[in-house]
Amino acid sequence: MPKLQQVTILGATGTIGVNTLDVISQHPHSFEVFALTANQNVDVLFNQCQKFNPRYAVTLEEQAADQLSAKLKKAGSATEVLSGMAALEFVSAHEKVDAVMAAIVGSAGLNPSIAAAKAGKRILLANKETLVMAGSIFMHAVEEGGATLLPIDSEHNAIFQVMPHEKRASLNDSGVKKILLTASGGPFRKSSAEELKRVTVKQALNHPNWVMGPKITIDSATLMNKGLEVIEAHWLFNASAEQIEVVVHPQSVIHSMVEYVDGSVLAQLSNPDMRTPIAYALGYPERLQSGVSSLDLFKIGRLDFEAPDTDKFPCLRLAFDALKAGGNAAAIMNAANEVAVEAFIKEKIGFTDIPALIESVMESSQIKAVSDLEMLIVADKEARIAAKAWVKRAA
Ligand code: NAD
Ligand code: MG
Repeated sequence: MPKLQQVTILGATGTIGVNTLDVISQHPHSFEVFALTANQNVDVLFNQCQKFNPRYAVTLEEQAADQLSAKLKKAGSATEVLSGMAALEFVSAHEKVDAVMAAIVGSAGLNPSIAAAKAGKRILLANKETLVMAGSIFMHAVEEGGATLLPIDSEHNAIFQVMPHEKRASLNDSGVKKILLTASGGPFRKSSAEELKRVTVKQALNHPNWVMGPKITIDSATLMNKGLEVIEAHWLFNASAEQIEVVVHPQSVIHSMVEYVDGSVLAQLSNPDMRTPIAYALGYPERLQSGVSSLDLFKIGRLDFEAPDTDKFPCLRLAFDALKAGGNAAAIMNAANEVAVEAFIKEKIGFTDIPALIESVMESSQIKAVSDLEMLIVADKEARIAAKAWVKRAA
């Protein structure tokens, strides 16, 4: 790598943020932390600031920033503390920054991701909601700003690794027939439709293969995570809905595959540990040590595959519907899903209410073409209002 890279980590206190700092700490001569951000987790952010000495620390809430600032001052730290959305955008677009890890969860990640894109940064994109909500606008900002986009989601990172990197007009021009997007199937792969109705929050928060934040863990249990990833793959790789096939692979060892026109299928395999895709994107095009142990194929023994069941897990079907509908449909679906997941975690609605709520909001919303971000933000807001009304009626 040419020089010491200055990195901003958005969502530093989350699962992806913590794993990113773990990889960076293994390469002190290649990376320096420029800014760390969090919603309001002051204690974790304080410890991270002590260890990595960033120039800036940012929280969304002002109160959290005041607390953090007092603690850092007392400890003699030179880190400057800022707060609010404008500050998140500031540390994403700052001229000193080379790379931005976009690892805020949910739609809150959109504006800082777009700011990094417009400023031409190297964007390590974990926040899939950015692409689901505003794929066309974000990809346009990447192009205009001359940014480099590297996917962190393990599936998309895998696809990126086995996809040709020369820019071609279409997947067909690259000799690609389709993308095989793998899915673990989540903790309820074998549950009956009846059992799904009685799923508790605790059961849904217990993913068989991955340790992740609560929102994506619930999304994995409903298969909405795979739905979001289908839309993410559409934007990242210019793939149509017909060119993306979801394959349930319970061991989560193959992280996705690409099928070429000659019949070749290329796959990327590794232990399910996000430090592999994070290290790949941090080092790209070089390979870096990540701290992930070797894949023990003898211990794994076998790899299984099955088709997803969209009757039992309608969220995946809803996401394909949203992708095919285009315009504001995916933003509406994403907003309804965020409200539904939060309501489920707070035990206001049941597990199978999540797809019912999303479908109802999608059906009652006006699906239309979008020309700017403002229209998507309006669609997001209206869908949240409709979703909250649904939750109220259900309670
Ligand atoms: P997490 O809940 O563990 O962490 C989220 C981070 O975002 C925290 O630092 C939190 O403080 C911050 N945050 C939350 N709300 C915020 C707001 N309103 N404004 C500013 N900051 C806010 O989540 P995670 O599992 O690390 O996932 C982060 C993103 O990466 C998600 O979009 C997720 O879909 C994606 N992703 C995660 C994994 C994984 O293995 N965890 C894998 C693939 C993709
Ligand atoms: Mg994934």
